[in-house]
Parts: sequence; structure tokens; C-alpha cells
Amino acid sequence: MSISVTDTFELNNGVRIPLIGLGVFQTPPAETTRAVQTALENGYRHIDTAAGYLNEHEVGEGIRRSGLPREDIFVETKIWVSDYGCDATLHAFEKATRKIGVEQLDLLILHQPAVGAFDRTIAAYQALEKLLAAGRVRAIGVSNFTPTLLTRLLTAAEVVPAVNQIELHPYFTQVPSQQADAAHGILTQAWSPIGGITFYPGFGGSGRSTLTDPTLRQIAHDHDKTPAQVMLRWHLQQGRSSIPKSTNPKRIAENIDIFDFELTPDQLARIDALDTGVRGGPNPDQPQSRYFTFHIPEA
Ligand code: NAP
Repeated sequence: MSISVTDTFELNNGVRIPLIGLGVFQTPPAETTRAVQTALENGYRHIDTAAGYLNEHEVGEGIRRSGLPREDIFVETKIWVSDYGCDATLHAFEKATRKIGVEQLDLLILHQPAVGAFDRTIAAYQALEKLLAAGRVRAIGVSNFTPTLLTRLLTAAEVVPAVNQIELHPYFTQVPSQQADAAHGILTQAWSPIGGITFYPGFGGSGRSTLTDPTLRQIAHDHDKTPAQVMLRWHLQQGRSSIPKSTNPKRIAENIDIFDFELTPDQLARIDALDTGVRGGPNPDQPQSRYFTFHIPEA
């Protein structure tokens, strides 16, 4: 399988998304512009931010400083749950585009289902549909939607989400979610694609870091690559978008240097078999009332 850095996935509305993007969750605003610039210098053409990361302005600044044409960069951001509701979500779009400094977003997604207030989730999604119809966004989607929540959304939605961004790394592969996404023509996008949530402080996870996993280290050794590169190649070969986060220039470059080797079917299967079934992030089925008290500032 010959895949190159300039290849793309086709979304269910024909829009094309780069194979790999830079994530900026927990990237401090002061480091975000530099990280985005470094990524773009290294061939990334997709940045995944969120209103909740409070660094959309700095993402926009990194894009501008890169000197690349706006249309060459795929910009994705997320609406936070306290901005759900038709008018509130339309206003959240205005906040995001003003902060990033763009007229149009390439992909706008709901950051999580508002469990216990699903009507607001539906209203927020319907606002995304309006933005899509008006040409203000090129594609819309969701994040952290389980198959059941996806079914509930689809009963009210006119537009099938283009993307479902979910926790997905070798220790938590969410096969039923991947299958449900595929059945609806939704691209699965992996957050924590190298298992960041298994090793960064303050989260539960399986208690083991994917980076030190013996199987991943052995496969990495076999290809003269790193465990992070092996995980990103695994996503790529299985048809998933991934958005690894780094603020470190060497690791930003390393994470996109995955186009010169190929995992064998046996190696892919050995990585699949590492699944523990244990999620590191919050359970999307459980209401998180604190989400509603986190307010997204005006632009
Ligand atoms: P990740 O990308 O799997 O891992 C990031 C962690 O790995 C950071 O601590 C980073 O540190 C380190 N790292 C990066 N490259 C490395 C390498 N080559 N070798 C060793 N360590 C490396 O985890 P994530 O940030 O949780 O997920 C990625 C993106 O997904 C986020 O940035 C965000 O855009 C998105 N996300 C979305 C949700 C959601 O609810 N939708 C939740 C979480 C994340 P350094 O920066 O020091 O390199």
C-alpha cells in the first residue's frame, strides 16, 4: 500500500481531509502558534483545536504566520457543550471564526453529547446543519458519540455527520463505535491516537503507557521507527484520521514521518489485540454537569 503525506480521506460529502493532523489539547496558548507553524513547516495541513482548548486565536496566528494559503489548511474546531442550543451554537461559530480569523471552517464538530440534555445536543447539531447549508462550514460532525447516541442523533438529523472523533489508541480501540461509524459512512477520527491519555497526568486509563508497550516497541524496532510512529501508521492503514498532539518540534516532525514503512497484516492484528476495553477519558454515556459551567469567552 503506497500512501503519501499529501493523500487525503474523502468525507461523506466529498470534502477531502488530510490523513493526519496536529492536535492542540493542553497546548498552552503561549506555545500554540509555534507548534502550529512547526507542524505546517513539516507538511501537516490539518489542525484540530476546540473552543474548550482556549487556544483558537493562537492556532489562527500560526496559520497566518506560516504564509500558506488559507485553502491549503484544513481547520477543525469544536463547540463546547455550554454553547449548545440553536442560537447559542450559531453564536459559538461566530466566536470561533473570529478567534481563528477565518471566514469559513473546514470541519465543525460537537465536542461531546450533552447526556441528560440531549435536546440541546440536537439543537446544536441543527445549528451546524444551518451553517453547512449557508456555506460557513465545509463539513460537520460529532465527537465522543457512542453507537446508541449516534442512532438518537440520526433520528433527528438531516445531515449524517462526516466525522466522529473518539478516544482511540491500541489500549482502547472501540470496535463497535468504529463499525457504527463505518455503517453510516462516518469517518472515525482518533483522539489520543498515540495513547496520550494513558500517560499524561491526571487521567485514569489502563495505568500503563502505550509508549512503553513491549509489542509496540518490538514492532517499532523491526521497522526502525518509534512506538508513536507505529501507532499512527496503524491508524492510517486502518483508514482512520488521527490528530497527534505535540509541542516538541522533534516529535511534531516524527509524528508525520510515517510514510516510508508499512505494517504487515500480522503486525496490525498484534496491535489490535492490545485492546484493554478500558477507556482513559470520560464516559460519554454519563452526564457531566461541570461541562455546563465552563463558559467559552467571547472573541
Ligand atoms: P496524543 O496525541 O495521543 O498524545 C499526546 C502526548 O504525547 C503529549 O503528552 C505529547 O507530549 C506526547 N507525544 C507526542 N508525540 C510523541 C512522540 N512521538 N513520542 C513520545 N511522546 C509524544 O493525545 P491527546 O493530546 O490526548 O490527543 C490528540 C488530540 O486529540 C488532542 O490534542 C486534541 O486535538 C484531540 N482530543 C480530543 C478530545 C475530545 O474529547 N474530542 C479529547 C482529547 C484529545 P509533547 O507535547 O511534549 O510532545
